[in-house]
Amino acid sequence: MDNKHRPTRRELIGVAATVAMSLAVSRRAIAQAGARVIVIGGGFGGASCARALKQLNPLLQVTLVEQNPTFTACPFSNDVIAGDRSIKQQQFGYEKVASGGVTVVAQAATKVDTSARTVTVADGSVLAYDRLVLAPGIDLRFNALPGYDEAASEKMPHAWKAGEQTLLLRRQLEAMEDGGVVAIAVPANPYRCPPGPYERASLIAHYLKTKKPRSKLIILDAKDAFSKQHLFESAWKELYPGLIERVSLSQGGKVASVDSSTNTLVTDFGKHTVQVANVIPPQRAGRIAEIAGATDKSGWCSIDPVTFESKQVSNVHIIGDACIAGGMPKSAFSANAQAKACAAAVVTLLAGGTPTPPKLINTCYSLVAPDYGISVAGVYQPKNGLLADTEGAGGVSPLDAPHEFREREAAYARSWFDTITAEVFG
Ligand SMILES: Cc1cc2nc3c(=O)[nH]c(=O)nc-3n(C[C@H](O)[C@H](O)[C@H](O)COP(=O)(O)OP(=O)(O)OC[C@H]3O[C@@H](n4cnc5c(N)ncnc54)[C@H](O)[C@@H]3O)c2cc1C
Repeated sequence: MDNKHRPTRRELIGVAATVAMSLAVSRRAIAQAGARVIVIGGGFGGASCARALKQLNPLLQVTLVEQNPTFTACPFSNDVIAGDRSIKQQQFGYEKVASGGVTVVAQAATKVDTSARTVTVADGSVLAYDRLVLAPGIDLRFNALPGYDEAASEKMPHAWKAGEQTLLLRRQLEAMEDGGVVAIAVPANPYRCPPGPYERASLIAHYLKTKKPRSKLIILDAKDAFSKQHLFESAWKELYPGLIERVSLSQGGKVASVDSSTNTLVTDFGKHTVQVANVIPPQRAGRIAEIAGATDKSGWCSIDPVTFESKQVSNVHIIGDACIAGGMPKSAFSANAQAKACAAAVVTLLAGGTPTPPKLINTCYSLVAPDYGISVAGVYQPKNGLLADTEGAGGVSPLDAPHEFREREAAYARSWFDTITAEVFG
C-alpha cells in the first residue's frame, strides 16, 4: 500500500490559494515595480495610448517608438491640398508626450520577437516589454494596382500619408492650367478614412470653382456606395454643379491599372488621361504589424474587441487603422478612443484583473466647402467577437439643414481637430 501522505482537500485548497495569492502579489508587484509597455507608432492611436497608460499607472515604464521626429496629421490635410491651410498647422512634436514621463525613442522599430518579448529598433538597440501595443497605421500596397509603385506616386501622388505627398498634390493643382481635368482613384474597402476621398474631391472642387472654373474633377471609384453619400451628392449639386463627375464601381469606375508616364488611369471601360491624378491605392496594416506576426491573410490585424489583444500573438495589442475594428471606421477619432480603452485593458491585465468591455464612440466630420461641414457618428461595443455598431445610436447630419447648420458643423470640425491634437500631443 502506498503510505505516502496524500494531501487533504483542505490542504489542496490552501496550496491553490497560496499559489493564487503569490501570482496576484507577483502580478501586482510587476505593475508596481514598473512593468514595461512599449507602444510602436506615435500617431493618433499610439501617442494617445502611451499618454493614457502613464496617466492610468504612473509606475509603468512606457516607451513610445516613433520613426518621425514630427507627426503630420491627415485630418484637415485635404484643406492643405485645397490651399486653405498650411502644412505647419498639421504638425506636432513629442515634447509634451516625453515630459509626461513617456520615454520617446525616435527610431523605426524593425523587428519584434514575440517569444522573447523584445523590439529591435533601427540602431540595433533591443527593448524588452511585458506588453506591446502596435499602432503603426497603414502602409500602401504598392504594386497591388498594376503600374502604381513608389516611383509612380511621385508623379501620381496618393497623399494618403500626410506630408511631402500632400504638398506635391497641392503643387500639381496650382501648376495645372484652367480647363484641366483632375482624377481621384478611390480603392475598395477597407481603407483609411472612408469619407476622406469625397471630402478631398469637394475641397479640390472648391479650389477649382474659385480659381480655375473651366476645370473638371472625376472620381473613379471601386465602390458603389460610400459614407455620407446623400449628403455629399446633394451638396455637390448645390455647390459645384457640373464640376464633379463620379463613376461608381457598377458604372466601370474601378481603376485596373495606371501609367504614370502619361498620367493615365485605365478602367475596364476606358482610359482617362488627366492633368492631375490622385491615386489612392489599396492599403494594409503598417508593415511592423506583419513583422510581428499580428496580421491575418487580409493584411490587417484581428483583435479581441475587449482588450485589443491580437488573435494571432499574445501580449501584443493593436489599435487604430491597423486593426480590424468591426463596424468602427479607420479614423483618428476611432484610433484615439481605442487607445484609451486599450490602455485601460493593459493596465488591468498587468495588475492581474479582468478588463471590462468598452463602449466606444466615433464621429467623422467632413468639409464639403471651408464653411460647409457634415458629420456621421456611431457607438460601438463588443458583440460576437467584434466591435459592433450599436443600433439606434449615432446618426448623420440632416439632409435638409439650413446653411447656418453646415457652417456650425464646419466650426465643430475645426474645434474637434484642435481638441484631439491637444489631447494626443499636448
Ligand atoms: C485625407 C485624410 C483625411 C482624414 N480626415 C480624418 C478626419 O477628419 N477625422 C478622422 O477622425 N480621421 C481622419 N483621417 C484618418 C486618420 O488620419 C487615421 O485614421 C489615423 O491617423 C489613424 O491613426 P493611427 O494611430 O492608427 O495611425 P497614424 O496616425 O498614421 O500613426 C501611425 C504612426 O506610426 C508610425 N510608425 C509606423 N511604423 C512604424 C515603425 N515601424 N516604427 C516606428 N514608428 C512607426 C508612423 O510614423 C506614424 O506616426 C483622415 C485620413 C486621410 C488620409
